[in-house]
Amino acid sequence: MLTDNLTINENGHLLIGGVDTITLAKECGTPAYVMDEGVIRENCRRFKKSIDEYYDGKGLVCYANKVFCCKAMCNIMREEGMGLDVVSSGELYTAISTGFPTDKICFHGNNKTKDEITFALSHGVGRIIVDNFEELERLDKIAGKLHKKANIMFRVKPGIDAHTHSFVQTGQIDSKFGVALETGEAFEIIKKAITMENVVLKGVHCHIGSQIFDISPFELAAKVMLGLIAKVRDELGYTIEELNLGGGFGIKYLEEDNPPEYDEYMKRVAATVNKTCEEYSLDRPFIYIEPGRSIAGPAGITLYTVGSVKEIPNVRTYVAVDGGMADNPRYALYQSEYTAVVANKADKPKDAVVTLAGRCCESGDLVGENMPLQTPEEGDVIAVLATGAYNYSMSSNYNRLPKPPVIMVNNGNAKIVVKRETLDDVIRNDL
Ligand SMILES: *Cc1c(COP(=O)(O)O)cnc(C)c1O
Repeated sequence: MLTDNLTINENGHLLIGGVDTITLAKECGTPAYVMDEGVIRENCRRFKKSIDEYYDGKGLVCYANKVFCCKAMCNIMREEGMGLDVVSSGELYTAISTGFPTDKICFHGNNKTKDEITFALSHGVGRIIVDNFEELERLDKIAGKLHKKANIMFRVKPGIDAHTHSFVQTGQIDSKFGVALETGEAFEIIKKAITMENVVLKGVHCHIGSQIFDISPFELAAKVMLGLIAKVRDELGYTIEELNLGGGFGIKYLEEDNPPEYDEYMKRVAATVNKTCEEYSLDRPFIYIEPGRSIAGPAGITLYTVGSVKEIPNVRTYVAVDGGMADNPRYALYQSEYTAVVANKADKPKDAVVTLAGRCCESGDLVGENMPLQTPEEGDVIAVLATGAYNYSMSSNYNRLPKPPVIMVNNGNAKIVVKRETLDDVIRNDL
C-alpha cells in the first residue's frame, strides 16, 4: 500500500491505523475523511528529531494549519510540542479555542485585515509574518494603539524556482506573496522596520513552493536568505536572529512517487546553514520550518460509496461516487493525481481503469482520470489515499452538500472529531 499504516484484513477489507474502513463506512456513512493520528504524530516527531539531530535543537517546527485545521488537530500539535502557522482569524480562533500557546503561533497571509491584526496582537501571537509595506504601517499603528510590540518576520521572495533550482531574476518576482529580494525591496522594508517604534524585527521568512521532492532548492534558498541577513548586518548594523525556511516537502500520492525522507531535508539544509554562516561569520540563526502537507497528507484517506458505473465504449468508464469537488477540489483546481482502492476488495488486483466522477453539477468534478482500480460496482466503498492535506480544509458546500465528518483513528480505535454537517447546518445562516 501507499503508506505503511494501510493494511488489508482476511476479508479483503482495507484497514487504516488498524481500523476496518468498511465498518467505518457503515457506522459513519460516506463520504467521510479518515485521519490516522499515529501517522500525524510520527511525522511531527520526525521533523522535530531532525532539528535536534542536525541543528542542535535550535529551531521550531510549525505545522501549517491551513492544510488540515480543526480542534483535534490543534490539540495533537500542542501535545507534540509543535508551533503553528495560521493564515486567518478563523484558524487562529480554532487554535486559541483549544488553549494552544499563542507564543508558538506564526501569523501569515498576504492581506491580513485590521481586525485580524488586532485579534492576533491582543492574543499575544508569537510572530507576525509581514507581507508588504502597507501591512507594516498598519501593524505598527495598531500595535501602538494597543501598547504592544509586534514581533515580526518578513515574507521574502528569494527568487528560487523550486522546479528549475535556479536563482531566477524575474520568475519568482511574479508572486502575490512577500517582498522581492533581487529588486532591493526586501532590504528597503527591513530598513524601514528597524526604525519603527512598535515592531521588533526578529526574522526573515521564505516559502518556495509545495510538493517539492528535490532538496537542492531549499539549500539554495537558505544560502540566499543568509546572504540577506549578512547584508543587513553589514550595511545597517542590525542582527536578524531568526530564519524561517517555510514548508513545501513533497509526499507520496502515487506508488511511483519517491519523496526524500524528512530527516534528509534537515540534514542537508542544516549543513548548508552552518557552512554559509561560517562564510559570512554570522551566528547561526534560530530556524523555523513549516511542514504542512508532509504532516497531514499521508495520514488521511477519503471514503466514498459508488452509485453507478457508466461504461462509454471506446471512451471511458465513469464511476460516480457520493462526494467529489465539494470535499476534494484539488483535481478540479490542478489535476492532482491520487491513488484509489476499492476498500471492500482491497486484496483483488486492479484490473480496471476508471474515471472517478463526483456528484456535483460540473463536468470538471472529477476525483481522478485513468485511475487503476479493482473492478467497481454499485455499493462498493472506494478509498482515495493521501487526502489528509488540502481536502477537508478546502471543502465547500457547493450544491448545498453538507460537509463530511472527520474520523480520527489510532491503533485500532476510532472517534469522530468533526461531525458530519446536517441539512440544518446547511441553512443555519439563512435569514
Ligand atoms: C502553505 C504554507 C506552508 C505549508 O506548505 P506545504 O507545502 O503544505 O508543506 C508553509 N508555510 C507557508 C507560509 C505556507 O503558506
